Amino acid sequence: MKFIPALFVLSCQNFVVSLQLKKKNVMINIVIFGAPGAGKGTQAKLLAEKYDFLHISTGDLLRQEVELQTPIGQRAQAIMNRGDLVGDDIVVPLLGRALELRSTLPDPDAALDPWDVERNGAPHRPEGCIIDGFPRTVSQAQTLEFLFSRLKRKIDCVVAIDVPRDELVRRIHERAAISGRADDTEDVIRHRLDLYDQQTTPVLEYYSVSGLLATVDGSGEISETIGRICKTLELVMHLKAKH
Ligand code: ADP
Repeated sequence: MKFIPALFVLSCQNFVVSLQLKKKNVMINIVIFGAPGAGKGTQAKLLAEKYDFLHISTGDLLRQEVELQTPIGQRAQAIMNRGDLVGDDIVVPLLGRALELRSTLPDPDAALDPWDVERNGAPHRPEGCIIDGFPRTVSQAQTLEFLFSRLKRKIDCVVAIDVPRDELVRRIHERAAISGRADDTEDVIRHRLDLYDQQTTPVLEYYSVSGLLATVDGSGEISETIGRICKTLELVMHLKAKH
């Protein structure tokens, strides 16, 4: 009999917290992290949709520059095709511009840039954001902190999607058949994975020390991984709503 009131109290608490989340419109900023093939782009899109986050992918920003053959795109193209990391002088201003354009324009209803998210036919500015593809080095992690501090924001959580190397290679090969991406070829894939091990994994340690890192198993189906990420993010939102 005793646990019935306890259960009742718990479910009331959950109800109150979910109301608080809605009312306070909890804004969280997250980084999604993972090796090529880990599915960070797919997961980031799903999360952006579910929680109404702004999604900024540095890979997508760069590919758009390449497609439009802008001066930046022309500089980045060969580097990306080799599977190397483009220089900070290219990627940092792109990210900075995307963040500022989307976070600081005074009129929330003004038509923004082509990246503006449309909801029901109207321009719309989400509260939280999800960064995908950045940082890839410790120095980029420090730069991201600086960019966020300029916007009076901070990173609330870094979600690392963990997938074993064999599975990464299998997925990229599968994707290569349909993506048409110039960097999804055998040699380039191996090079990108090696670069990730050498330059990007130290970023995990960086965020682990700062207490922001949450690692989720990403070896299964998309729906399983998203379920794990959502559990983590809802905990982060819950904690933030209480403060
Ligand atoms: P993946 O995770 O499969 O490598 P992305 O779309 O994130 O795919 O990135 C594609 C390419 O864009 C990278 O291989 C790299 O050349 C370039 N790129 C993306 N983000 C960055 C970054 N933060 N720093 C340097 N290069 C980047």
